[in-house]
Amino acid sequence: MLLTISTTARPATDLGFLLHKHPDRVQEFGQSFGTAQVFYPEADEERCTAALMLDVDPVRLARTRGRTAPDFSLGQYVNDRPYAASSLLAVALGDVFRTARAGRCAARPEAAANPLPLSITLPALPCRGGPDLARRLFEPLGWQVQAQAVPLDPRFPEWGDSRYVRLALHGEVRLADALNHLYVLLPVLDDAKHYWIAADEVDKLIRAGEGWLAGHPDRELIARRYLGRRRALQRTALARLAELGDEVEETLVPPVEEEAGSRPPDEEPDPQPVRPLSALRREAVLAALTDVGARSVADLGCGSGALVADLLKRPEFGRIAAMDVSVHALAVARRRLGLDRMPDAQRGRLELFQGALTYKDDRIAGFDAAVLMEVIEHVDPPRLAALERVVLGLARPAHLIVTTPNAEYNVRYEGLTGHRHPDHRFEWSRAEFAAWAHAAAERYGYDVTFRPVGEPDPEVGPPTQMGIFARAGREQEGMGS
Ligand code: SAH
Repeated sequence: MLLTISTTARPATDLGFLLHKHPDRVQEFGQSFGTAQVFYPEADEERCTAALMLDVDPVRLARTRGRTAPDFSLGQYVNDRPYAASSLLAVALGDVFRTARAGRCAARPEAAANPLPLSITLPALPCRGGPDLARRLFEPLGWQVQAQAVPLDPRFPEWGDSRYVRLALHGEVRLADALNHLYVLLPVLDDAKHYWIAADEVDKLIRAGEGWLAGHPDRELIARRYLGRRRALQRTALARLAELGDEVEETLVPPVEEEAGSRPPDEEPDPQPVRPLSALRREAVLAALTDVGARSVADLGCGSGALVADLLKRPEFGRIAAMDVSVHALAVARRRLGLDRMPDAQRGRLELFQGALTYKDDRIAGFDAAVLMEVIEHVDPPRLAALERVVLGLARPAHLIVTTPNAEYNVRYEGLTGHRHPDHRFEWSRAEFAAWAHAAAERYGYDVTFRPVGEPDPEVGPPTQMGIFARAGREQEGMGS
């Protein structure tokens, strides 16, 4: 089982840094079902190729039958696992390139954060749905896809095609994203990931899908197949994806019309489409900004810029600042907003910069309103006091809009055991959020009111909660409209 990843970004040998695997050595990584090797068939300035080869030991695969072993139901002595790229390859890739998948590279941070010219080849990918499905899943992610069915036996073309596809992908894609695309989509195409799927598989999917899955036109098919048709987990995954946002949606091609009969018979039709919570949240924040008459807005922890895009569409917001601590999020925001080709008038309204909310920063001072949309729950509780001081005490916007998950609502996400997102440090009940907001408002001279976001549930309240802080005595300062 073989997978190659090549780049022509110069110096191409930086691929070794980005993958955290040295080009001069062959390295081995033991897996419960065999051995993974990483080596570089070519490594020079112009072009560098890393190969991941997985040697599956069918005996070991059969012996590791059990809940912890991937593919245990395939643990027969005779099967295609040893030579086909498959869910096992995805498991090995996930393990061997864990750090690269997280987008971390201290030695080459710029190259890790930005798209690179990449080519990926998989000579034998088991693919239920054939070359068309491979194209349909990879193309919206920015890949040029070459997919060819592998004939059952080239000597007897009349036998037709095997279930394998020879796949080549070319594109300008961030390496971490490319690895995560493969990590998720290889088992989806293979569709034989039969092992018991634990609730933390949803976390794995959400984490690996960060920045691309929520906006993928086939996210439902992907979640369905990835999670092995366990409906409760699928529903949870889709609800959580909707919650995270349709962040990349606008940059993607429109969904492909599904041909009649193309859906395998054991898959139910998609449930009724619902408005994603992320969209409802942005609308609620925009409505609050309008209600308080804000003309200048600082979006703190702007992420990939979904709210900024909405703010730019409305001329009343004459000055917009967007700040985030993540270089990667800012790079995505720059691309989605088309910052490089934005007309000057528009460009002049926007300042986009890196910064941390726990340090005093003059660039976020002097705004009518600041927004912390789904940000506070990403901050370690001991650091929250610093954030309160920086935003309410030092930047002192006339208004501050804060949204955060309502933890009480989590019981409505079937199968969800931990937090909605693996990076959340906490999720608060309505009482906990109110207690925090009142204390912070009191400390820095603000009043606070609350609004629900999303359809409120009679027992557990709305999925998202929002607090609107108003600086006390602002009328005397002549603020507002
Ligand atoms: N507001 C956006 C993104 C929410 S995700 C939206 O609702 O779509 C949370 C964001 O907060 C991430 O982009 C993360 O990088 C950012 N963040 C977390 N801690 C931060 C800090 N201390 N300073 C600045 N940004 C931070």
